[in-house]
Amino acid sequence: MVGKKTPIRAWRVAPAGRALALAMAVAVALVGDGLPPARAQQGGLPVIRDTEIENLLRDYAAPILKVAGLAKQHVRIVILNDRAFNAFVMDGRHIFINVGALFDAKTPNEVIGIFAHETGHLAGGHLMRLREELARAQTASIVAMLAGIGAAVAGARSGSGGNIGVPAIMAPQSMIQHSLLAYVRTQEDQADHAGVKFLTETHQSAKGMLDLFKRLTNESLFNSRYIDPYLQSHPMPPERVAALEVLAKASPYFDRKDPPELQLRHDMMRAKLSGFLDRPDTVYRRYPLSDHSLPARYARAIAAFRYGNAPEAIAQIDSLIQTQPNDPYFYELKGQVLLEGGHPADAIAPLRRAVTLAHGAPLIDIMLGQALIATNTAKNAEEAVPLLRAALTREPEAPEAYAQLAMAYGRKGDLAQADLAAAQAALNRGDIKTARQLAARAKTRLPVGSPAWVQADDIVSVKAPAPPRQ
Ligand SMILES: [Zn+2]
Repeated sequence: MVGKKTPIRAWRVAPAGRALALAMAVAVALVGDGLPPARAQQGGLPVIRDTEIENLLRDYAAPILKVAGLAKQHVRIVILNDRAFNAFVMDGRHIFINVGALFDAKTPNEVIGIFAHETGHLAGGHLMRLREELARAQTASIVAMLAGIGAAVAGARSGSGGNIGVPAIMAPQSMIQHSLLAYVRTQEDQADHAGVKFLTETHQSAKGMLDLFKRLTNESLFNSRYIDPYLQSHPMPPERVAALEVLAKASPYFDRKDPPELQLRHDMMRAKLSGFLDRPDTVYRRYPLSDHSLPARYARAIAAFRYGNAPEAIAQIDSLIQTQPNDPYFYELKGQVLLEGGHPADAIAPLRRAVTLAHGAPLIDIMLGQALIATNTAKNAEEAVPLLRAALTREPEAPEAYAQLAMAYGRKGDLAQADLAAAQAALNRGDIKTARQLAARAKTRLPVGSPAWVQADDIVSVKAPAPPRQ
């Protein structure tokens, strides 16, 4: 977890931004505004990257995706740093969930219920059909508009005034929007059905999903000024919740509780999010000093780090490590505190331990690479290069990692590879001009036709992407 200003690895992921542009078009047509966070329109999503949380959410989703027949599609869970309650899909490869939903969900089962419902949308191919439906609606609205113009012309000719053309255009469009909304509601019912089926097949309860939906509809009744974006994209009329209740209670697993160890991981996730994202007074209100539980201690240790008290943070993390000596994320956090506090040499040992315990966590590998490079020795730079390269094969969108790799090559004196890595970093940032300049310079230093030269050549010929649709 790197970045002083951005808590938890928060960076902008270009592919998510592109997918969003498409969803924006759909959402605008359906509900007028508001489905994805407004910031997304400015060219990127506030994505949170964190190994511990991503692993937990993957464990929540994996059994559901498997019974849905989507195990091989490599569906990724993307966590958005937005406090509004929301979760949605916009292509076949990603399920988006806001931290607001994670804060709100008190049990693993509630988040699993959200994933079951969203997986219902994925398995049903709803997005594709929605797009087709939308295309049809657009065609219909053009036809309606032409008919309206025709009516206006006809009206003008018959001498009854030209204005009737306007309502003739408006009425069919609102009818089309109405039929689209009805279509969306059908998809919601289907996703609920599929979701409950997936939960039952994995011997899990749909109670969390039901509780959550009830809570959301009740909140929207009492708070009309603010409607969760989730309710906008997932219309929840009372009959839908009633139907879900019948379905959920018919399952033999309705009263099944989450295993305690999973509940603890869930509580640790919420504690971590609070520690990183809440102000210290909020953290201490949620997790008062009288609370000696592991999550409370975790949240307070992170808050101490975030608000400049590194020695206090280290003391608290060491005490957490004493309680649970095999938790990779305590070592990761300790490494982060030391690295960002300007002690990269001291960060190396805890980060190595975190890497070993985490069994293949590219984000932690990248942080270890960063610590090695920050020690400013050729030997450590030598070690960082293969570490970062391996991490980048699994996390090719991590712009910090390419920047770190460029630095490592620089320390080693390999200027051609340093230029190439810096070009890739620029490309990931979306800075095509710089990427092309650096790649062109790398080409002059590389043997013509070598794999690295070909990579550089590819970057030189990259075209600027079309601006995202709004
Ligand atoms: Zn839905």
